[in-house]
Amino acid sequence: MHALRSPLSLLLVAALSSLASADAIERMNPERLRATHERVEALKRERVPVELKGGYEDYRALLHVHSAFSHDSRGTLEEIVPAAKATGVRVIMFSEHPANHYDYFKDGHNGVVDGVLLIPGAETGGYLAYPTRSIQGEKTGSPQEFSDLVRRDDGLIFLCHLEERMDWDIAGLTGSEIYNTHADFKDEVKFLGALRTPLGMLGLVPAVKQYPQEVFAALEDYPTDYLKKFDEMCQKARHTGVSANDAHHNQAYRGRLTDEGKVQLEDALGKKLLSLDPEKLALIKPLVAGKKAGDMVFELDLDPYERSFRHVSTHLLMKELTRDAVWDALKAGRAYVAFDWMADPTGFVFRADRGDESWPIGGEIPGAADVRLRAAAPLSGTFKLIRNGRVTLEREGTSLDSTITEPGVYRVEVWLNMAGEPRPWILSNPIYVRE
Ligand SMILES: [Zn+2]
Repeated sequence: MHALRSPLSLLLVAALSSLASADAIERMNPERLRATHERVEALKRERVPVELKGGYEDYRALLHVHSAFSHDSRGTLEEIVPAAKATGVRVIMFSEHPANHYDYFKDGHNGVVDGVLLIPGAETGGYLAYPTRSIQGEKTGSPQEFSDLVRRDDGLIFLCHLEERMDWDIAGLTGSEIYNTHADFKDEVKFLGALRTPLGMLGLVPAVKQYPQEVFAALEDYPTDYLKKFDEMCQKARHTGVSANDAHHNQAYRGRLTDEGKVQLEDALGKKLLSLDPEKLALIKPLVAGKKAGDMVFELDLDPYERSFRHVSTHLLMKELTRDAVWDALKAGRAYVAFDWMADPTGFVFRADRGDESWPIGGEIPGAADVRLRAAAPLSGTFKLIRNGRVTLEREGTSLDSTITEPGVYRVEVWLNMAGEPRPWILSNPIYVRE
């Protein structure tokens, strides 16, 4: 707490509370950040291994990650792979912005580096595309044609940034993003507004320093619109839901002292923003004391890879760490999305049983008779069983067990209480119970 008692923290409270109430801003209240952090630490101690077996190993994977191939990132493998190691991530599926000067498939990050499987791909035309060969320069017309091109040779294709294409109706998709960090953040108008003023920016420094992950997560909301669209799509055809980290490491601000004694602000891509005069800004003045030209006066780094990687991921249920196994899991929907920043969900199980038969997440079951749906997680929370987009059952505890009678598309959510607020932790893919 001590860092938050600094004058800057008072400023934070003043700067942020002058903005009308928004969820993210409320969650950045110093007391709330502390309580959230304590809850995260307590959950680490409360975790118990799941006894129910799913028959697969659980691998943390990331989709939608940008590196320096993309015009809006400077990320290198020297930065990205250690961030993956630190957060237990075993698979990174890149999504570079394509450009003429490189071929994202041939030149992109590929293969196992230090135990992390790297898979090249692109964010293009409204999709995350993972072709199995170079498609550089191949022209397609409609979004449907592009999807067909990627799928033809067993590539994977997911709708991305759903908020921009709610009306799309594409046949043959692998799946869709059901959460996108960037989309989640960009509606936080008040927070983004605060970042545009030196006062707001400086005000955030102590909180980000003390509770970096919790500040990042303050911006997270339940992806209502994404899941509504996803539920509709799954009722028409199988779709695999994935999370999009949309990691770039490009949301950082630095202030350096210039030869003229001004503080020059620049962003993560080196773009010069404002020049501040410490003589005119009482707030800046104490920060430059004892500093010489060229010194960093302050730094506000909001999205280093490690933080973005810890926030959310797509857990793949596989038997080995290979590209083929990744393809298999994503095509079969054997995956779930988790906000890992809250707690490690590894071992989460959602399965369907009938007699001696059992189906994992993504399974398709002929007929609803005697189907028992079971889910279990390593922590106690609120389990929600959702059928065709509607919650049909809610249970508190570490598991859910329900014998169903109706066909439908069933998925599970697990919510945890974080500092007085229920927040989504696990979003499973569906099990499809057919007529
Ligand atoms: Zn992106």
